[in-house]
Amino acid sequence: MPDIPVRVRFAPSPTGHLHVGGGRTALFNWLFARHHGGTFILRIEDTDKSRSTDENIDVIVDALSWLGLDWDEGPPTPGYRQTERFEIYRAHAERLVRAGRAYYCDCSPETLDAERKAAEARKETFRYSGRCRDRGLEAGALRLRIPQDGATVVDDLINGPVTFEHRQLDDWILVRTDGTPTYNFCVVVDDVTMRISHVIRGTDHLSNTPKQILCYEALDYAVPAFAHVSLILGQDKKRLSKRHGAASVQAFREAGIIPEALVNYLARLGWSHGDQETFTRDELVRLFDVKDVASSAAVFDIAKLEWLNQEYLKAMDGARLAELARPFIARAGLGVTLDDRRLAAAMETLRERAKTLVELVEVGRFYFERPPDYDPKAAAKFFGAAGAQRLARLAERLRALDDFTAPAIEAVYRDLTTALGLKLVDLAQLTRLAVTGRTASPPLFEVLAILGRDETLARLEAARAAAERVA
Ligand code: GLU
Repeated sequence: MPDIPVRVRFAPSPTGHLHVGGGRTALFNWLFARHHGGTFILRIEDTDKSRSTDENIDVIVDALSWLGLDWDEGPPTPGYRQTERFEIYRAHAERLVRAGRAYYCDCSPETLDAERKAAEARKETFRYSGRCRDRGLEAGALRLRIPQDGATVVDDLINGPVTFEHRQLDDWILVRTDGTPTYNFCVVVDDVTMRISHVIRGTDHLSNTPKQILCYEALDYAVPAFAHVSLILGQDKKRLSKRHGAASVQAFREAGIIPEALVNYLARLGWSHGDQETFTRDELVRLFDVKDVASSAAVFDIAKLEWLNQEYLKAMDGARLAELARPFIARAGLGVTLDDRRLAAAMETLRERAKTLVELVEVGRFYFERPPDYDPKAAAKFFGAAGAQRLARLAERLRALDDFTAPAIEAVYRDLTTALGLKLVDLAQLTRLAVTGRTASPPLFEVLAILGRDETLARLEAARAAAERVA
């Protein structure tokens, strides 16, 4: 590994939510920093004032925190938002002017536009002609003087060497005529002043990299290592977007994906360690290396994410699950009347039955509300006079039970089944219908024990009354 300290950064532009591609870039930076005992920095690239909002910053910060990607430097400490750093950009621009590595240009927008159109007519990419290079102007837009021959090679840790001929580049603008620095210039100055050792970012920035490298060289600074991470595509091989359903970290959170699962999934999206699928965070930190990230685009597979999520839900203890599920219970318009111990036990009966927290609350609705109705087909089968009578018998026996636990409840059911000459399943399905409104539920006796005697009896009584109304 390099002998300079590892310092990496995640540098979102707060123009929207945190895209999962951004989430993965943040994760790779974080894992790289933690693996090497380095520093992970969060920098907010908000120079595009018209599109950046404080609200988006909050959403991004919140999403990173939810993923558990803690930063060592960054907001709320001042100085990590580009809009707070204009003085630093100005000082670096002046340095470049003094060293003769940048020059002012007063070409009017009309002139440049005409040149752009002429280039387009020739089916060429527009490049600034360099007309003002040697005019010695003292005001205007500030341009970087780039070498006219040769090439810059980006020695990318993921993609290998990528060569850019200088004749395809031009003397790009560092500072506009109105004094505002451009995006690429801010990134270079920030990476230099924050002593970034490795720039790990989306491959959509690869074409900016030669321009940035030429600026490092002009400033006489060492160039960091670069690693450009591939795009994330939807199943149709187009860049993953809202059209594909969820595309932001926030959207997956709202869909009931848990952070452990999303982190695991994003880590495996383009990175692998043999054919291992599930990783603890410690394992990821220990095993991750940016060099092992694939250069090809990764296709987002929601079914696989849900599978992983379910694996995590299955292994989770009830108390933590309850904590994660609470906001989803509230969002479904339900309230919790179970105490913490019962709620945790309820969660453990549900965790095998749902892929997401949204589904978990859906299949466990009956823990939070009495059945608003009864499945009509099942009601036709199990209710009626005989059903009502059986429910009354059950209630009577359960009321007399000292110890309202699953094994004791089961004993009552077995006993009564024999006494009535029935099958256990008949009484069980009848009770399921009475207590949950449906005929599928987690293990019945556990459900009854969790609901408790009073609630069970209330539901049996309500069902008995309903059963009587069924002819
Ligand atoms: N602000 C850029 C983005 O959100 C990242 C730039 C970089 O990492 O250099 O895409």
